This record gives sequence, structure tokens and C-alpha cells, in this order.
Amino acid sequence: MGSVIVLAEAGEQGVSKPTLELLTLARRLGEPVAVVVGEPAGGVVETLGRYGATAVLTAAEPALQEGLPAPRAEALAQLAGDRQASVVLLTSTPDAKDVAGRLAVRLTAALVTDATDVRSGEGGVVTRQSVFAGSWTVEAASTADVAVVTVKPNSVEAEEAPVEPAVETVQVTLSETSTAVRVLESSPKAATGRPELTEAAIVVSGGRGTGGDFAAVEAFADALGAAVGASRAAVDSGWYPHAYQIGQTGKTVSPQLYVAAGISGAIQHRAGMQTSRAVVAVNKDPEAPIFEMADLGVVGDLHTVLPAVTEQLRDA
Ligand code: FAD
Repeated sequence: MGSVIVLAEAGEQGVSKPTLELLTLARRLGEPVAVVVGEPAGGVVETLGRYGATAVLTAAEPALQEGLPAPRAEALAQLAGDRQASVVLLTSTPDAKDVAGRLAVRLTAALVTDATDVRSGEGGVVTRQSVFAGSWTVEAASTADVAVVTVKPNSVEAEEAPVEPAVETVQVTLSETSTAVRVLESSPKAATGRPELTEAAIVVSGGRGTGGDFAAVEAFADALGAAVGASRAAVDSGWYPHAYQIGQTGKTVSPQLYVAAGISGAIQHRAGMQTSRAVVAVNKDPEAPIFEMADLGVVGDLHTVLPAVTEQLRDA
């Protein structure tokens, strides 16, 4: 079996859930090799091993730790070459997709972004993803020697498969071109105490129907331990920051449960949430298109429905 490189997201908080999902998928394709940028924090190597990483490569060059795509792509290309990897898996985030594109060019590899499933098939790696704002689901087989694939979070359930990983510190040589841009200053975004939107198991989103008051949406999300999202109408109205917009021109989420409150269900919104496992819609218009795709629909005013359920959850 060939090596499958997984770019791990790991820090002081441990290993991200999507990374564990990637390792689970990687095991279907070959021997998972996790790449960690920087010195791994305590417990990171153990966690990666618990989910099947046969090797953990740590690359500590300062330029890699700035999070810029060019040096990461160059480093991954070297590691993929050294290990003769047939697949490189990354989590579908805007940054990782930037890395993936550059990496695919360097490796003359096939590139698939936003996959929701990856498996080994006849002729190589087979992926599934939704395209054209979700109007088509495509199954594609890579015909190249190497495939670079970004996978949407929550596409699979992470499953343990413990092994003892070999840990190796690797030296990568970065060219002047990929280190031409340096980060001068960065400031972390204000902590909300909620899970990361693209990784959350539950997302509660508000739309124009909130009338600009997200209190009921946020309280419901907090009672569920969920992330908060918003439709473009809510974002364009200045009611919620763009970083939380879900849809064609916002983020793509695939949670276990997606709650759409006061959202009509326009195709551009669906593009960002239609791979959710279960959808619950709260809308006062029984004809709202969102009900066509909802597993559970509640016809009612969100400012009444959500607080009532929130209270029940808090009492439970
Ligand atoms: P509306 O369509 O106005 O729906 C509001 C809903 O709330 C209605 O169904 C109404 O019945 C209900 N409602 C009202 N009051 C209440 C209440 N008190 N309780 C319960 N329900 C209530 N949209 C996105 O979301 N994300 C994108 O990324 C995106 N990208 C786009 C890209 C392009 C190129 C274009 C052209 C459009 C894009 N849009 C996007 C916009 C999209 O077409 C819709 O306009 C938008 O999704 C509508 O948002 P909404 O559902 O919140 O508002």
C-alpha cells in the first residue's frame, strides 16, 4: 500500500476533528502519514496514532508556521515526493484549497476540492462531491499518479484504529519564491466560545426572518453547543459578520444537523449546507422552499419557536 499524506491541523487544543476524519478516509487508500507543521503539542502524536497515522512527520521551518500557502505547498510537495505518496488529503478550508491548488501543480497531480467521500476504486482514487452550487453530484476517478483531495469536514465519522506512529522531524528546503511573502502582523479573531463553523456538528443559522435580532438563534445554538451561521440577506443587512455567511459566496458546512431559522432556502444558500446530514427549518411561511429539503419543518415565528425549544433544552 502506498503512503497517503494527511496535512494535520494540530495545535495547543489538540488535533482538529476534520484531521481525524481525514485519517479515517486515508486508511481506505493506503498508509496514513500525518504532516504536522511546527513542534507537536503534548498528546498530538498519540492522537494521530490512535486514528491510524503510521508516521508523523514534523516540519518546523519558521516560514511554514506563518500559515501561508506557498511554503506549505512546496514542503508538502517535497514530502509527498520523498514518500512516493499516491494521495494527499487536506481539509476543505479556503487556506487548504489554496495549498492544494499549488501542490497539485507542483506534483502534476489530479486535484479534487470539496469531496464528501473518497475511496479506492478501479483506476485509482474515486471521489464524490457536489458541484455547480450543489445542483449536481459528481463521482470522479483520478487518472493521475498522484491525487490531491480536499475533503469537507463532517463527511465521515472519525473512527479509531490505534497504531504506534514513527515520528520523524523532516527538513524541507524552501525556495525564495515560496518565501517571498512574509506575515508582518496577525491578530486572532475574537473568541465566541462556539465551535468553528465549518467543523461544528450542529449549525444554527439565521436569515432575513430574524429581522436583525439574532438573540434567539444564538441562545438556541448555545443550548445545543452549536455554531451560528447566517444567510447572505442577514449578512448584507449588516446583522451578522460575513465570516459566518453560508452559501455559494460564503462558507460550506456539512454538519450532522443544520437548523435554518427565517431562511427561505434559495439555491445559493443551499449550496453551502445541502450536504448536511439532517435539516430542520423554522419558517413562518409554509410555502418556503427550504421545507422541500427539510427533514423536519416547523411553521412558525422563530422568535417564539426557538426560545420555547431553548427553554426545554436548558431544563432537560
Ligand atoms: P429571504 O429569502 O428574504 O427569506 C426570509 C425567510 O424568512 C422567508 O422565507 C420568510 O418567510 C421567513 N421569515 C420571515 N420572518 C420570519 C419569522 N419571524 N420567523 C420565521 N420565519 C420568518 N445567499 C446566501 O444565503 N448565501 C450565499 O452565499 C449567497 N450567495 C449568492 C450569490 C449570488 C451570485 C447571488 C445572486 C445570490 C446569493 N445569495 C446567497 C442570495 C440568495 O439568493 C438569497 O437572496 C438569500 O439566501 C436570502 O436570504 P434569506 O433566506 O435569509 O432571506
